[in-house]
Amino acid sequence: MSPDTATGDPSVRHTPAVEATGEITDTLLETRGLRKEFGGFTAVDDVNFSIEAGELRCLIGPNGAGKSTLLKLITGTYRPTSGKIYYDGRDITAVDPHERVQRGISMKFQVPSVYGDLTVRENVRLPVQRFAGGDERRRRVDDAIAAAGLSGYEAVEASALSHGQQQQLEIGMAASLEPDLLLLDEPVAGLDVAEREAIAERVTRLNGTEDIAFVVIEHDTEFVAEIADEVTVLHNGEVFREGSIEEIESDADVQRIYLGGDT
Ligand code: ADP
Ligand code: MG
Repeated sequence: MSPDTATGDPSVRHTPAVEATGEITDTLLETRGLRKEFGGFTAVDDVNFSIEAGELRCLIGPNGAGKSTLLKLITGTYRPTSGKIYYDGRDITAVDPHERVQRGISMKFQVPSVYGDLTVRENVRLPVQRFAGGDERRRRVDDAIAAAGLSGYEAVEASALSHGQQQQLEIGMAASLEPDLLLLDEPVAGLDVAEREAIAERVTRLNGTEDIAFVVIEHDTEFVAEIADEVTVLHNGEVFREGSIEEIESDADVQRIYLGGDT
């Protein structure tokens, strides 16, 4: 059986994850034995990680735990040293990043990437124009600006936005690709309470109304508690714990790794 016979058909979405699990489930993404080495150093170590369609998962863990690397393996920015990645029931391990975007995986990276001298509308148009033209492009751009919570700011240069609004803009840009899975790397780092609140609202709304599944890397436990269904803790490249935020917060071993007592 060749899992990639249907590679050229990005319109097929939410096929049962038979390939990944051997049974019919709502699994959207699954990694199996995923591993990434840099030189002799193992950044992601035998990770089995899966999320359901429409789920909102937070990924936490101390600095250097492998969180950003795991997301970059999912987007295809990095190729794994070994292991498999399944998306929508298909093996995407060897699928290139651009094709993964077309299949519905979108990411907002840790480093901000809006163009300060372009307006909000011009920024949003950049990702959209690679995938849509004409009326469809206009519709997607308008929807993304609304999803970003930036209606009324279309003609404002991005450099004139607050840091929080720039993060909102980036989430809108990632959402403009109409993904089924949106990966956010530290979307509220350095933001104040009101700005974090605005991001939480954007994320929960996109998750609720557009049914976009999220994996969100975040340290701020209040933010995590507000948005997450489930939390996965990475430590030394491995999945250390999974559970509700209440379970994770009260877990003595999790507290210990954050204090740096187990390295
Ligand atoms: P996190 O996002 O959890 O803070 P990262 O995934 O960025 O952690 O990094 C995990 C580990 O892998 C760190 O020790 C980091 O130094 C190392 N690492 C990440 N990217 C690279 C790279 N491109 N080359 C070498 N080492 C890397
Ligand atoms: Mg990181």
